[in-house]
Amino acid sequence: MTTRPLPEPTALTEGFWTAARQHRLVLQRCDECGRFRHYPQLLCPDCTSSSWTWTPASGRGVVYTYTRTHQPFHPAWTGRTPYVVATVELDEGVRMVSDLPPEDTDRVQIGSAVEVFFDDLPDTEVTLPRFRLVRAN
Ligand code: ZN
Repeated sequence: MTTRPLPEPTALTEGFWTAARQHRLVLQRCDECGRFRHYPQLLCPDCTSSSWTWTPASGRGVVYTYTRTHQPFHPAWTGRTPYVVATVELDEGVRMVSDLPPEDTDRVQIGSAVEVFFDDLPDTEVTLPRFRLVRAN
């Protein structure tokens, strides 16, 4: 079995991955201007402050765009196609990339409401924050 590529936390990203392991979604928030940002960066892209805090995020947003993949880009995805990779715009205004669960592959649309869930990858210390379509209750 081929192992999927895994994130490799750095000093800058470790807080994000530690929170994910605890099933919490956090974003960097600038201590000076309050802007959220993702991916993790040393300096605020608005005011260049280097002061920031990991801040809980809503975990909710909408699909900004997506692509439906029919060819596995890595051997670990063989047999899992088709799947959808979406760019999600969170309520905090930042965008994240996530694959969607198989049940969402044929239902996703631009603007679909999504919510975070946490995927504890077996045999690893990695938890991926992923997104799925919000189900109607
Ligand atoms: Zn700032």
